[in-house]
Order: sequence, then C-alpha cells, then structure tokens
Amino acid sequence: MSSERGRLIVVSGPTASGKSTLWRRLIKRDGVDFSVSATTRDPRRGEVDGQDYHFVSDQKFQEWVKQGAFLEWAEVHGKCYGTLREHVLCSIDSGNDIVLEIDVQGTRQLVDCDLPLVTLFVTPPSREVLEQRLRDRGTETEEQIQRRLSIVEQEMSFASDYQYQVVNDDFDRMEAEVELILGYRKEAC
Ligand code: 5GP
Repeated sequence: MSSERGRLIVVSGPTASGKSTLWRRLIKRDGVDFSVSATTRDPRRGEVDGQDYHFVSDQKFQEWVKQGAFLEWAEVHGKCYGTLREHVLCSIDSGNDIVLEIDVQGTRQLVDCDLPLVTLFVTPPSREVLEQRLRDRGTETEEQIQRRLSIVEQEMSFASDYQYQVVNDDFDRMEAEVELILGYRKEAC
C-alpha cells in the first residue's frame, strides 16, 4: 500500500470519441483501477454486469441516490449513471489512481468535491469521423445514433472545462500524450 493518495482520472468526450479504448488501455497498468459505474440502461452485447457497469433498476438507483452512495450522478441519454463513492475512495486511499469515464455533468460535480482530480476530454478529429465510428460500432439503433449525435455539439462545448483536451487523430499518439500528462511516461517518444 502506497503512502501517497492516488488520483481520480476523469475521462470524458463525445460518443465514439475513443475514450473507452483509452481508459481500457490506462487500466492495464499496475496501480490504476477503473470505477465501475452504476446505470439504469440495458447492457449492450458483450457487456458484463459488475465489470462494465453495475446494471440496476430505476428503483435501486434511486435508493442509492438517497443513501448518498454516489460521488456524482447524472441523467445521460435518458438513463441514470453514477459513480460509487466507496469504491473510488478505497482506491485512492490505497494509493492507486482510478479512472472514471463519466459525462460533463458528473465532472462538474466532482470539481467541487475537493478530491485529487485530473480531467481529460477526448475529442474526435471531426464530426464525420465520429459519426462513422458510431455506425461502424454497430451497437445502437438508428434512433439511438441520432440521439447521441444530437448532443455532440453540446458535449463538445464543455471541453474547455477540462484541464486537458486531447485529440484522437491517431490513437497511439494520443495515448502517449495522455501517459505524459499523467506522469506514466517520462518523455515524448
Ligand atoms: P454509455 O451508455 O455509452 O456507456 O455511456 C453514456 C454516457 O454516460 C457517456 O458519456 C459516459 O461517459 C457517461 N457515464 C458513464 N458512467 C457515468 C457515471 O458514473 N456518471 C456520469 N455522470 N456519467 C457516466
């Protein structure tokens, strides 16, 4: 157990920006955990309960809200999502960093929490690239795709609230940039 407290590493960005690929790579490192959020949305194909999300009912989610179980929570695309307080605090108290993939509303709540925070916003190189990535993913219906695209502009307008904005023009380049920002890598390659 490290004597130094870890950090909350917040990763946000529009749908299909590449933020999930980024956090999946970050948490492969020793000493970096992932905050498994609770959500009321249905699991997508291949998602595992307790690993990708804790998939819970509306009723359970509201119980947890009342109990103060969430460090932050928000409604996104018509469903509720929240960060479980205890898990995050245990991680950072043990000296580990913990990655939170949350939306802009959640990040705003955390900024007021007085916790060691690094905030990163992942942007796609263009809206066209983003739309193509979303379609290639093949996990949403057309209606869901349209709903997600309709809030991209709005989401992008919050990028400046974040400490760092990184452009996913080339994934490996962006990953190296993020590792430098986080001090996981000492110098640019
Ligand atoms: P998805 O349904 O695609 O997994 O996630 C939809 C959105 O919810 C994404 O923008 C994601 O960052 C956000 N999200 C996931 N977990 C949380 C959470 O715990 N809190 C907040 N505020 N947003 C979350």
